[in-house]
Amino acid sequence: MGRVEVLSEALVSLISAGEVVENPSSIVKELIENSLDAGADSIEIETKGGGVDYISVSDNGTGILRDDCEVVLHRYSTSKISKREDIDAIQTYGFRGEALASIAAVAEVKITTQSSEEEIGSRINSRYGEQPVVTDTARPPGTRVEVFNVFEMVPARRKHLGSARAENYQISEIVAKHAIARPDVGFRFLRDGEMLVDCPPNQEETERIAHIWGKEIAEALIPVNLQKDGIAVSGYVAKPPVSRGNRSRECFSVLKRPIHDTRLSEALESSFHSLLMKGRYPICVIDISLDRSNVDVNVHPTKREVRILDMDATLSVLRDAVRNSLIGKPQVSSDSSLDEFYGEDAIAVAPEVSALQTKDGGLERPPIDSVQVLEQTILDSGQIADAHSVVEFLSGTYRVIGQLHEMYILLESEEGLLLVDQHAAHERILYEEIRNDIEEDAIHVQELLEPIVLSLGTNEAEMVLGLKEVLYRIGYTVESFGGNEIAISSVPAVFETRTGAAELMSFVGRAIEVGHQVAKETLLDEIAKLTACHSAIRAGQSLTHEQMADIIVQLAKLPRKHNCCHGRPSMVRLKRDDIDRSVGRLGPDAIRRYRARHRVD
Ligand code: ADP
Ligand code: MG
Repeated sequence: MGRVEVLSEALVSLISAGEVVENPSSIVKELIENSLDAGADSIEIETKGGGVDYISVSDNGTGILRDDCEVVLHRYSTSKISKREDIDAIQTYGFRGEALASIAAVAEVKITTQSSEEEIGSRINSRYGEQPVVTDTARPPGTRVEVFNVFEMVPARRKHLGSARAENYQISEIVAKHAIARPDVGFRFLRDGEMLVDCPPNQEETERIAHIWGKEIAEALIPVNLQKDGIAVSGYVAKPPVSRGNRSRECFSVLKRPIHDTRLSEALESSFHSLLMKGRYPICVIDISLDRSNVDVNVHPTKREVRILDMDATLSVLRDAVRNSLIGKPQVSSDSSLDEFYGEDAIAVAPEVSALQTKDGGLERPPIDSVQVLEQTILDSGQIADAHSVVEFLSGTYRVIGQLHEMYILLESEEGLLLVDQHAAHERILYEEIRNDIEEDAIHVQELLEPIVLSLGTNEAEMVLGLKEVLYRIGYTVESFGGNEIAISSVPAVFETRTGAAELMSFVGRAIEVGHQVAKETLLDEIAKLTACHSAIRAGQSLTHEQMADIIVQLAKLPRKHNCCHGRPSMVRLKRDDIDRSVGRLGPDAIRRYRARHRVD
């Protein structure tokens, strides 16, 4: 007898379920997409315990007909395509008929559904891929899918799930992405009993973004709109310096289908070249629309990726679109200090690029990407650098003239010279950002691939573990690693690339020092300060003009800008008059006074 066996249907489902259902957030994604495909204009998502314990997605869509209830949980059963040609004309999010089957293979599923065409609704109960049971029920038209105990029967997978917090974060991201891509649909999201999102249907695009991402981002948005070669790029980008420490706010969709593609991110980021500090990423909501025949949506089991036939052309239109918005007159803007950054001067350089045209009028293929040429031209001519270094600050106009001792940003104005301590300034900016995020319960965390294990002194581990909850609120996940060792598996995202054992060790040292002396709220604030301090730019770090201008622009927006968060002054002003006098020169004020005294005109 041979050794090769054809696997049973149940086993095949379990194996292939892994492709669609990686974690609870992928279940949420599939269920939201089913609701959208069912034409719902109101979707309610509820999760408990990071989605592992419970997920429910209800909608007011078409519902499932009784005759279909027996098959919807089967693999490759779908109402969305039926013949070969349909694949090339897919308008729905789903079409593979795999999602419900995959979810049912790894969890307990209950569906209640009512079609408006039928009198009686249906309830479908399924346990881990067993034959589902269908009974009668009644509910308003629409469908509710409930999922319990994800991966309970697949312990190997359950072990690989992130913490409840990490899963929650992923789920929120999925809900946010869909809510932003579809402002026409109402979304409610209830997590562990708390209503996190509640958006009505038919919102304006920017109104929806404000709802999901907050006012600061919404107010910084400028529209992006370009149509070229059959490719239309439309949406919004946030004006710098409004940005993020990671790519989580770069939202792309192709034909309104949210997708993930690093090439699109890189193209977007290249258009922001030099306008954002290193380690900062743009914020965007951009939809790419092109002829349906140029897009293959069937390339990824979770449909997270699509294949665009002429990707190079698409990237080029995307870059141009974003660039035009950034250097053109912002269309939705009242912030004049930023207008100067991307004013007409920059546009005036554009003809340089057309110099790439050959004599006979043909367009020579540029040696490097034309966008980079434009970038370089702008930089070489010093225009962005110059424009960038003029900032509105402390109700005056300042020009960034350079850096002193890799420690101070020097700003010149009519009144004199301003020295801004680069570390103190950046620390204040980060501190305010962290406090804001704590208040909105929106701390961005960076999960470490490998937890960092710290060996502490006697009792120290216990003390840090005693601060666990407060640390958690601000983004640190700390667990005991046995004995005097602790494992840190997530840190606040502001740490960016700097996180290392040494960094955390000194942080822990300080946290212990202050931790047992103060009340919880004060401790939270202390830790916010420490985190800001440890992740801020340091003295000794050299900065470009753009980076310096960026810091000043951000600082200018804060109410408490004169001190670092520990109270140290962050800037010193040297009056022009004093400078002049100290070298025995008569400054403009002295000259004015002299003239007044001696009645000289
Ligand atoms: P696909 O979306 O690829 O068709 P699924 O496994 O996600 O596959 O869903 C199978 C079928 O179940 C769908 O084609 C649709 O007919 C039906 N269905 C699933 N969810 C819903 C819903 N929320 N409302 C109406 N019908 C649904
Ligand atoms: Mg589906």
